[in-house]
Amino acid sequence: QALEEREAYRIHGPAWDEARNRTFTLLRDLTVATGEGRQLRVEYQPKIDLRTNRCIGAEALLRWDHPQLGPISPGEFVPLFERTSNIHRLTQYAIEDVLTQVRRWRTDGLEVCISINISGLDLLDDDFDNRLSSALKKHKVQPDWIDIELTETARMDDPASIGMKIQKLRDIGIDIGIDDFGTGQSALSYLKYIPASFVKIDSMFIRSLEQDENDRIMVRSTIDMAHALQRRVVAEGIESQVILDWLRGNGCDHGQGFAISAPLRPEAFARWVRDRT
Ligand code: C2E
Ligand code: MG
Ligand code: MG
Ligand code: MG
Repeated sequence: QALEEREAYRIHGPAWDEARNRTFTLLRDLTVATGEGRQLRVEYQPKIDLRTNRCIGAEALLRWDHPQLGPISPGEFVPLFERTSNIHRLTQYAIEDVLTQVRRWRTDGLEVCISINISGLDLLDDDFDNRLSSALKKHKVQPDWIDIELTETARMDDPASIGMKIQKLRDIGIDIGIDDFGTGQSALSYLKYIPASFVKIDSMFIRSLEQDENDRIMVRSTIDMAHALQRRVVAEGIESQVILDWLRGNGCDHGQGFAISAPLRPEAFARWVRDRT
């Protein structure tokens, strides 16, 4: 171990030390951040119905405002929470925050469905569905006011048992979608075993649609396959009007991306929805 570290230092120099320090700091602070520190907040990225152009809701995306290091992306901190078995804590934090917000919006007459990201690791916890359903009761939130985007993780090697856990969530009345569809190792086996209501095609296939004929073929086929299996299709990472029009023309149901709106703070999202209707 010590030898490995010295070797890494020899190769990468101070940059490696810095990256390691940053990781240490984040690992040290993640409990405080989700605890009394409350350093995490949620932004909402609008999702629209491509056929009607209406806003159907948003995806909840976490942000960590670290007191020393500044804003940190979930792409950086989510894996750290997963590594340290703290992902349940992060998920619970996001759920509490989102349900509080959804309750407020519904009281104000804002009819939006909010997507919550969960890690495959959350489903290894047998109690996840119970905790979620008691959170819904506590916040007086109806199950169809939210849905879940499930991201695959390396340790999800048993899609059949994951499928059964997801069926429990479906029984409560919560829709599940497969996030980052097409990027994992098991995308198709997911579709086979998981009772998902929608698939979310990863931005990797959407971003370069204009230039890349192969991407267009894959996306078109994915839409057709998902529809044949009675699943809705969401595209993420829509960065231009041309791509948006192409997706609409090819029957994609819902869309999300910078061409529609960047993720917004809660007040800005509510304003965005009201201005649009
Ligand atoms: P994701 O679920 O695939 O979320 C989409 C990511 O793409 C978001 O990054 C979003 O800000 C970004 N994005 C949105 N529109 C565009 C676009 O037009 N072009 C491009 N290039 N990117 C776009 P973000 O917010 O940094 O989140 C990264 C990942 O972190 C998310 O990927 C999700 O897997 C994870 N994450 C975020 N919040 C949570 C959470 O509460 N729990 C868990 N478990 N994971 C979360
Ligand atoms: Mg997502
Ligand atoms: Mg994801
Ligand atoms: Mg993605």
